[in-house]
Parts: sequence; structure tokens; C-alpha cells
Amino acid sequence: MICREPPTVCCMHYDLIVIGGGAAGVFAAITCAERSTKSVLVLERTVQLLQKVKISGGGRCNVTHDCMDPRELSAHYPRGEKALIGPFNRFSAADTIDWFTGREWS
Ligand SMILES: Cc1cc2nc3c(=O)[nH]c(=O)nc-3n(C[C@H](O)[C@H](O)[C@H](O)COP(=O)(O)OP(=O)(O)OC[C@H]3O[C@@H](n4cnc5c(N)ncnc54)[C@H](O)[C@@H]3O)c2cc1C
Repeated sequence: MICREPPTVCCMHYDLIVIGGGAAGVFAAITCAERSTKSVLVLERTVQLLQKVKISGGGRCNVTHDCMDPRELSAHYPRGEKALIGPFNRFSAADTIDWFTGREWS
């Protein structure tokens, strides 16, 4: 549901408020809502959620890679190779595919 009310009015009724409706914010909001957070509000300053996701991969919404080894995957990044190994171990390309599988997207 997209809330058009001023945030100062509607925010008081939510258990979690996420600032920013990009990939990270929407992913966090869905994950929390699916676990135990009863109500989540995503506040996005532009008119559309997930704008960068829509243009990623040249418009194909390229959201992961077919490389399941965290070290090998991180080696393909031009910056932050070492810093990415930990996050890729906690949530890998395979986890990303699992996350999208079974959900309905339009
Ligand atoms: C041209 C292009 C191509 C790309 N291609 C790929 C690709 O092929 N594969 C890939 O994995 N990645 C790709 N990326 C990168 C990927 O899109 C980004 O890494 C990802 O979208 C970042 O998500 P994010 O949620 O961290 O940040 P963002 O997408 O930047 O989201 C942050 C959101 O917060 C909002 N916001 C900021 N401040 C406020 C505020 N004060 N109040 C309310 N809202 C606020 C912003 O408007 C924005 O919507 C590409 C990026 C670009 C630009």
C-alpha cells in the first residue's frame, strides 16, 4: 500500500519505519514484515520505489550473479573485495536466488 498522508500523521502507527525505498530499504522492509514486525512503512523521497533497481543491468534488473563462492564473487568487484567476503558468506548469491524464488513479482 502506498501511503500519501504526511509522514508526521501516519508514522505514529507503524512498528518500523524505513527511510529510503531503494533495494536495501525495500529488502529490509519485506524481511522484517515476513518475520515478526507487524507494520512497516517505507518513506521514499522520490515518486517511485526501486528506481535504481529498474535501471540496473541495463534495464534487465540484474540482481545477482551465477557465482556461488563468496571469495570468487568478491574478487570480481573493483573495490571492497575483502570487505565483501563476510557479507557474501552471510547472504550469498544462492540466498538471493532462494529469496526471489516463490515470490510473485510484477
Ligand atoms: C546505471 C546503474 C546500473 C546498475 N547496474 C547494476 C547491476 O547490473 N547489478 C547490480 O547489482 N547493481 C547495479 N547497480 C547498482 C544498484 O542499482 C545499487 O547498488 C542499488 O540499487 C543500491 O541500493 P540502495 O538501496 O543501497 O540505494 P539506492 O538505490 O540509492 O536507494 C536509496 C533510496 O533512498 C532514498 N532516499 C535517500 N534519502 C532519503 C530521505 N532523506 N528520505 C527518503 N528517501 C530517501 C533515495 O531516493 C533512494 O530511492 C546499478 C546502478 C546504476 C545507477
